[in-house]
Amino acid sequence: LLLAYEPAKRLARVQVGLAESLVGVRALFSILDHPVSVTENDENPALKLTRGRIDLDDVTFGYRTSEPVVHGITLSVEHGKRLALVGPSGGGKSTILSLIQRFYDVQKGAIRVDGQDIRTVSIDTLRQHIAFVSQDVFLFSGTARDNIRIGRLDATDAEVEQAARDAFAHDFIMNLPNGYDSTVGENGVQLSGGQRQRIAIARAILKNAPILLLDEATSALDSESERMIQAALDKLVEGRTTIVIAHRLATILTADEIAVIEHGKVLESGTHAELVRKQGLYEKLYRYQFAEDPALERQSA
Ligand code: ADP
Ligand code: MG
Repeated sequence: LLLAYEPAKRLARVQVGLAESLVGVRALFSILDHPVSVTENDENPALKLTRGRIDLDDVTFGYRTSEPVVHGITLSVEHGKRLALVGPSGGGKSTILSLIQRFYDVQKGAIRVDGQDIRTVSIDTLRQHIAFVSQDVFLFSGTARDNIRIGRLDATDAEVEQAARDAFAHDFIMNLPNGYDSTVGENGVQLSGGQRQRIAIARAILKNAPILLLDEATSALDSESERMIQAALDKLVEGRTTIVIAHRLATILTADEIAVIEHGKVLESGTHAELVRKQGLYEKLYRYQFAEDPALERQSA
């Protein structure tokens, strides 16, 4: 009896350990996510999300106050619309996505979600309504299942698997040594860049947030991964307010609006056709950067 009892107890301990490690991971995420510069007012009410509109109103910010990397940016995205940010590296695009999630506070101006200054609402409720898919996917050392479940901790196994299917991650996960129970991350199976991104997309699908912030990968993926990721993202953006840092031609062509960001400013904005006509920086970027995208050949073929 004692022998039979021991393993069960050990198993129970393992499960407690797992639950604790998920809580631990969430704590880790919030430590990574909350730079010390942001102070939360405990009295702040929950964000009241009505439509999912985002406004940046004359926003200025610098990692060092004396050196702004975002200078007086004004941008709006209406409910369910797609805004693409393009422009040279170092221009401030990723910083804009960080500011919307309130990883840092603006130094001038304001960011509003459905009319509410994000400094006046609780950070948790703000981030609950935002899914962020970036090129640097953080996988913690745990199972594939738990790495997806981070999107919503109370999701059932069936919901996790459905999200993985929708993110085109199910098949490669099933091919791992232990399927969904395979350990991935630092101490487990090494996943390719494309596979990691699909895990990130599955997390976002599970989170089902009305606002989506997307930092498209710059790194070249194999064409199979590329195609599946594009299909998964197309599904994910549907019906959500999306701001995407675009590196793919297909993304900018389908955006409702494109904003060209350089040196922390909006240089020009409009639709693809309007910006091409303008013959400004966008038109150059389009010709030299995006026109090399294989999607162009597919489109003109
Ligand atoms: P983009 O996404 O358009 O390439 P970023 O927003 O990443 O531009 O960067 C804007 C500027 O801010 C760059 O000069 C970059 O070096 C700087 N920067 C970005 N992140 C940090 C950070 N965490 N700390 C200090 N400087 C940063
Ligand atoms: Mg960036």
